Amino acid sequence: MSAPVLDLIIVGAGFSGLAMAIRADRAGFSRFAILEKADRIGGTWRDNTYPGAASDVPAHLYSLSFAPRSGWSRLFPAQGEIQAYLEDLVAENGLGDRLRLGTTVRRASFDAASCLWRVETDRGLLVARVLVGAVGALHQPARPALPGLDGFAGACFHSAEWDHRRTLAGRRVGVIGTGASAVQIVPAIAGTAAHLTVFQRNPPWILPRHDRPYSAGAKAFLRIGALRRLYRASLFWRRELTALFGFTRVSWLTAGAEALARSHLKTAIADPDLRRRLTPSYRLGCKRVLLSDDFYPALGRPDVSLVTEPVRAVRPGGVVTADGTEHPLDVLILATGFSPSGSYDRLDIVGRGGRTLAQAWRDGADALHGVAMTGFPNLFLLLGPNTGLGHNSVLAMVEAQVEHVLGALAWLRDHPGRALEVRPEAQARVRAAIDARLADSIWARGGCGSWYLDAAGRNRTLWPGTATSYRRQTKRLRRGDYALIGPA
Ligand code: NAP
Repeated sequence: MSAPVLDLIIVGAGFSGLAMAIRADRAGFSRFAILEKADRIGGTWRDNTYPGAASDVPAHLYSLSFAPRSGWSRLFPAQGEIQAYLEDLVAENGLGDRLRLGTTVRRASFDAASCLWRVETDRGLLVARVLVGAVGALHQPARPALPGLDGFAGACFHSAEWDHRRTLAGRRVGVIGTGASAVQIVPAIAGTAAHLTVFQRNPPWILPRHDRPYSAGAKAFLRIGALRRLYRASLFWRRELTALFGFTRVSWLTAGAEALARSHLKTAIADPDLRRRLTPSYRLGCKRVLLSDDFYPALGRPDVSLVTEPVRAVRPGGVVTADGTEHPLDVLILATGFSPSGSYDRLDIVGRGGRTLAQAWRDGADALHGVAMTGFPNLFLLLGPNTGLGHNSVLAMVEAQVEHVLGALAWLRDHPGRALEVRPEAQARVRAAIDARLADSIWARGGCGSWYLDAAGRNRTLWPGTATSYRRQTKRLRRGDYALIGPA
């Protein structure tokens, strides 16, 4: 191999890839490359530019603990402010020289003879000891399999691929879906479109959002490091408590939160029939709980209609529902979510013995703490299987994973020429514990289907506990869980 050997290659320059790069750099592992297929960093915050796009975790929590900001404009900042934060991180941490934009990974394979990863990109070969997959959990848009969708005569695009050249003013616009993206899009475009039709399959549970700008006084308060950390901790622990007291299971808290959500609906929607159609039939928490103060009021507008008949097909002029009605549309927006396995399905990763990641995951995605897998030495994933969170900032999970990888890098530094591989019994032990908790979880028992579950009904998406419990297990790499292997 003639290419210089890097400490690590990070695939993806979104939140998690940048977090990995900053921490690796600060820990002295500065010989790395960040490969990003797009021409800009930012991941989900680069891609999701739909009207109304904003975080639904407060920015003081949804930001890296080791790269804090005091100047966030509001509790839940809009997409542009988060994207600017990520771009500032690159500049402030001097990552630009190691960032390779417009570089697509074609194949990554573990070379057992040298214990190195060979990463083939459309711009050439790179070689590193460690490979970190930071390709995002929700990246691959899920387009509904509706007959006639490709023949729609107007503009049709997914929420994550918003076509800003299309004007909505004066157009008949349809939105399929009422998930986290749709509840932000609908209020943002209602009033611009001549008429907006929202196609709902299952109503979401929605709690009040209470977004607000930070006053000058609050920003001054948050410039004091100790106070800012205290504030962040209070945001974190408020969310942890919901998981501790049962938000991951059906509990007394479920009924209390449902009552709050019903009262939120009642306050916003006067029409009892519309209210009935917006009331979920499954338990709160089974699907992601949404936060919005303006989605219900938008649905109450005279120029917005909610359609709850199932969508059956798309014709050139509109959408046809199960009752045979054709809803004429000029623009069709698919706010239909993402394929959680999509990100890794697209990567051709080949481990020890020529086994691909797709083969290893044929019976369901699995990794020790969502991070490392038997058969794939020195490969680490960020936001891998069962590391999603419904109740708290997913960056808490990312930071724990990044520390785990740093533990591996430090160990490897003491053992040149060797690689770390998860012991199968460690991976199986953690899998069994997760599955046992998931069997009794709200996502299994809450009376809904969701993208949290894979085609076989297994939940390989969410962590079934608190972020703190995950952090405790993951942050410090337990050497007993790994074997040091030498060149084969
Ligand atoms: P989502 O939560 O998966 O919602 C997709 C919506 O489309 C659901 O209402 C779903 O209905 C509907 N749908 C899917 N296929 C359909 C079909 N064939 N016919 C009719 N309806 C269909 O997707 P998302 O709203 O893009 O959100 C995905 C995730 O991204 C969120 O859970 C969250 O993690 C993240 N996100 C975060 C933010 C934020 O932080 N502010 C914003 C947006 C997204 P069913 O419920 O019946 O399946």
